[in-house]
Order: sequence, then C-alpha cells, then structure tokens
Amino acid sequence: MKPIYKVDLASIKDSPGSTLEIRDQITLADLEWEGGRLLEFVNPWWLQLEVTNVVRGYQVNGKTGGRFRLDCDRCLEKVQLPLETAFNELFLPEATAHQEEEARSFTGDELDLSVTLVEAILLQMPLKVLCTPNCRGLCSVCGTNLNIENCNCETESFDPRLAMLLKWKPDKGGGDDG
Ligand SMILES: [Zn+2]
Ligand SMILES: [Zn+2]
Repeated sequence: MKPIYKVDLASIKDSPGSTLEIRDQITLADLEWEGGRLLEFVNPWWLQLEVTNVVRGYQVNGKTGGRFRLDCDRCLEKVQLPLETAFNELFLPEATAHQEEEARSFTGDELDLSVTLVEAILLQMPLKVLCTPNCRGLCSVCGTNLNIENCNCETESFDPRLAMLLKWKPDKGGGDDG
C-alpha cells in the first residue's frame, strides 16, 4: 500500500512526555467495496493528530474526515456522504511491539499511519449506503430504477416457488395436515 501519512518524530523523540500536534490533509486511494463496487474518496480529507512520546513508544490520538462516494445498495445510483472517524493507537519499536497485542510497530524516526487510517475509516463505514431511506431499488425483472419510473413487471416478480404453491391445488382437500 502506498503510504497515506507519515509522522516525522524528530521534534519529540528526545523529549519524553512531549506531544506533537498536527493539522494536515490526506489523499485516500479508491478501494474495492462490497458487491464489486468502488469506494471513492473525495479528496483531500482533513487530519488532526496528537502524537505523544510515552518513552517506550508513541501514543497517537487522531481524527480524520471527509466525503466518500459509493453506489446506492439498492438502485446503484452514486451517493456522496460525509464520514468522520477517530482512532487511538500505541506504536512501539519493532523489537518490542509483539509484546502488546494491540500495538503497532515502527522503525526509525517516523510513524506510518496508513493502516491505522484505513482501518479507522472502514470501521466507520455505514452498513448500508442508500440514496434515500426509502429507495425503491431496481426492478429485479427488467432493471428499471423504480425511484424514477414504474414498470409492468409486478405480477412476474413473484417468487417462483410461491407461484408453484399457488398453482398447486389438491383434487380432494388433502386432509393430512388439517
Ligand atoms: Zn437508491
Ligand atoms: Zn420491471
């Protein structure tokens, strides 16, 4: 993955307890999303960070936000929505990072926040992306966008299994189940 954001630690690496405050912008690359859809980010996104030298490593608290574009789950029209997400992460030197399950590792004098940022954004993504809460979606038979026009497929959009049941009439009132 191409790095999204790196923090230069030079100004705080020799000052235990000191905090670096950052306001910046990031550019996010498009991602593959559920249903073969493209998750597009409207760049740039804003970024706020507090990076604290906690002696054994660095504690990062941050927020990022912006807008993204994705096809509506039902009608496949493009939808653009805002999103904001926060994250807290401990970075430890590579040699000791494995000692803590939740910690990320770093080497040298910079923190690569790429994975942290992408994870925080994906965790915050809505489960459903709809153009409107009442989106009527596409006709499953002819593909017409039912938000825009109606089609004449109603009778054919029956569940075929249900149609079979309705056609099936016992000659003389069954009796086994009643
Ligand atoms: Zn829709
Ligand atoms: Zn139709």
